[in-house]
Amino acid sequence: MRIITDIAEMQAAADEARLTGKRVGVVPTMGYLHEGHLNLLRTAREHARFVVLTAFVNPAQFAPNEDFEKYPRDFERDRALAEKAGTDVIFFPSREEMYPNGCETFVEVSHLSQVLEGEFRPTHFRGVTTIVAKLFNCTKPHVALFGQKDAQQAAMIRRMVKDLNFDIEIIVGPIVREADGLAMSSRNVYLSPGERKDALVLSQALHLAKDLISRGEKDTSAIRSAMFLLIAGKPTAAIDYVACVNPETFQTVKALHSGEPVLFLLAVRIGKTRLIDNEIIEVG
Ligand code: AMP
Repeated sequence: MRIITDIAEMQAAADEARLTGKRVGVVPTMGYLHEGHLNLLRTAREHARFVVLTAFVNPAQFAPNEDFEKYPRDFERDRALAEKAGTDVIFFPSREEMYPNGCETFVEVSHLSQVLEGEFRPTHFRGVTTIVAKLFNCTKPHVALFGQKDAQQAAMIRRMVKDLNFDIEIIVGPIVREADGLAMSSRNVYLSPGERKDALVLSQALHLAKDLISRGEKDTSAIRSAMFLLIAGKPTAAIDYVACVNPETFQTVKALHSGEPVLFLLAVRIGKTRLIDNEIIEVG
């Protein structure tokens, strides 16, 4: 496994792989790997002969009051885990390598970047789509893998690829959870033992939604109210949003219809840690 920190060297390695007929797959991450990332790497291996993991904590997607400085980092651990998962290259550029002169050019998916997460983190998605576009140009993939954990991000990347004609297949992997249901996240290390218990309320609220729907509830505001009540019962929890949307368009869904799946999404602060989770629910 090679570690590449230089953009020109990364592009040359991707060119060489392409010239020798290998499909190139990329898994963009901010490092501090967990099973969610490793599952994407293993899926990448099924679709590509040359698998690149990018590990870059992207300052452009953090607001000044957010956790850029304290975001967990452990490159040696990531290196060992990535190698075991069958990675060919870790692209690990410095901030100076990616943004030598700041950034004047941004990629923005207008509507999708403004709603839900975008309301609470107004500059976040512009940072995400811009860095992903840059990483695509650095790693020249045929296929790129993202996680359903960040459902809105995945939808935006799909839209960006379509709108800007990137010749890249996008694959979205399922949410990987801890045994008790908590969606894996690099940020889970911030949680104290008490908060870790309260954090279970995100997946429990999604479970409750599924349960109510299976019992015939069709009114999404009734379902969202029940979810709110459950979450509000946890002393450390503060809700940013609980939403029910069309999984493709992200338009709000008010009434459920048989055969039309919906996406429930939520963002909840547990103490100082902001967590997100979601689930696509089939309506019987
Ligand atoms: P991050 O390092 O948190 O920016 O995540 C990098 C990629 O891994 C993104 O495409 C995430 O959606 C994906 N990812 C993060 N956590 C999970 C998870 N628990 N299950 C599946 N994919 C995940």
